[in-house]
Amino acid sequence: KKVLIVGGVAGGASAAARLRRLDEDAHIVMFERDEYISFANCGLPYYIGDSIKDRNKLLVQTPEAMHKRFNLDIRTQSEVTSIDPISKTVTVSSKERGIYAESYDFLILSPGAKPIRPAVPGIESTKIYTLRNIADTDRVKKRVTEMNTKSAIVIGGGFIGVEMAENLNGIGLEVSLVQSGPQLLAPFDIEMSHVLAKELEQHGVNLFFSDRAQSFKETGEQIQVQLASGVTLVSDMIILAIGVTPDTAFLRDSGLELTPKGHIVVNEQLETNLDGVFAVGDAVEVMDFINGNKTAIPLAGPANKQGRIAADNVFGLGMTYKGAQGTSIIKVFGLTGAVTGNNEKTLQRLAIPYHVTYVHPSSHASYYPGATPLTIKLLFDNAGTVLGAQAVGFDGVDKRIDDIATVIHFRGTVNDLTELELSYAPPYSSAKDPVNMAGYTAQ
Ligand code: FAD
Repeated sequence: KKVLIVGGVAGGASAAARLRRLDEDAHIVMFERDEYISFANCGLPYYIGDSIKDRNKLLVQTPEAMHKRFNLDIRTQSEVTSIDPISKTVTVSSKERGIYAESYDFLILSPGAKPIRPAVPGIESTKIYTLRNIADTDRVKKRVTEMNTKSAIVIGGGFIGVEMAENLNGIGLEVSLVQSGPQLLAPFDIEMSHVLAKELEQHGVNLFFSDRAQSFKETGEQIQVQLASGVTLVSDMIILAIGVTPDTAFLRDSGLELTPKGHIVVNEQLETNLDGVFAVGDAVEVMDFINGNKTAIPLAGPANKQGRIAADNVFGLGMTYKGAQGTSIIKVFGLTGAVTGNNEKTLQRLAIPYHVTYVHPSSHASYYPGATPLTIKLLFDNAGTVLGAQAVGFDGVDKRIDDIATVIHFRGTVNDLTELELSYAPPYSSAKDPVNMAGYTAQ
């Protein structure tokens, strides 16, 4: 059996490792356009912000180590430029080997998503940076450490934009963040996200809401951003983080079914419309676990899980991907925000009936030192089935959202939240854990 994998990071590397564990004999070739495989995308902002000091720590696997451990044929600096489903071959453009064809029995696509660059005047400036891979990170790191950089403007208030704003502020830059809508971090509802925005402001990040960059212009050593509101901002560099788009242009003429936005269409087994071709990760359209609609959720957890499932199915195990909940978390200076399932905006947009409750318990027993306030917002339907939750606080946010995410996974109700028997001693929680409290309040 010969299996080709396109993309050597989250989904691709997971698929390759799982395949090898299932099948000792398969010939597994992993193509990666860039120099590095299996790096820690999620750690990139923290390396720029100096929380992660050693660049090597970002390289979770090297091609040599992964080859040795899993006996994989890893080809870096090798871009797959097209696929031919009739002859079951891909065309590869390789730095070392030139252009050649490679045949497959099975193909797993995990090409990911790339940062969106809007077609506005001045966008080609070298003072504008995006962040996806190690090369991007090296460029930003060089700019902030070696080029007397004192200020930055972050365009986009999603997870990457906010993480970059925090990290650049942390290394002493004057940071402004421009967000097109009225709130940061779209997976949260506005009142929850405002708490996180306040934390950014309190640390000196200047926020501009409901505004967008219309053009960029270099002014000597600096760069100027013209916003739609008429405001002009000037800084030493720009981080552009307005979202991602599937990196699937090379699949356009292959007969592979893509959505209008370019996501790869897959079924529950993560099979595409082409025989023997599977697809996973940021590049695919998935089902929203809560409402059943099609969506795209570019997160590392889903990409890794899908990579494993696609490998299982190449091996004939018939596993299914049941959809993405969008469980995610962010550190904003001292605060943590986390979310799972649908938010109120989504439920309203889809006209799904829901109830909402808020609780403001302490992170652990209030009589034990260090207890801090925590806010949980819980959304549930008429039958009590939990539809989503958001939490913001200084401590213990992660485990509360993960508890609720687990209940959602099993289609549990607010009654289940009250029944969960969770670990308790005063330094960690209360006899009635905040998750139990959210359930009681909702009952
Ligand atoms: P990728 O990991 O992007 O891998 C795709 C690879 O395919 C790329 O290396 C690309 O070079 C290669 N490729 C593309 N086309 C071709 C081709 N034609 N031929 C050969 N190779 C090709 N998610 C979280 O859940 N939590 C986080 O905290 C988090 N932080 C993030 C921070 C940053 C800065 C970034 C950029 C992402 C972050 N993510 C986070 C998102 C997460 O990294 C992605 O969801 C995940 O990496 C997607 O995996 P993937 O395999 O689909 O794509």
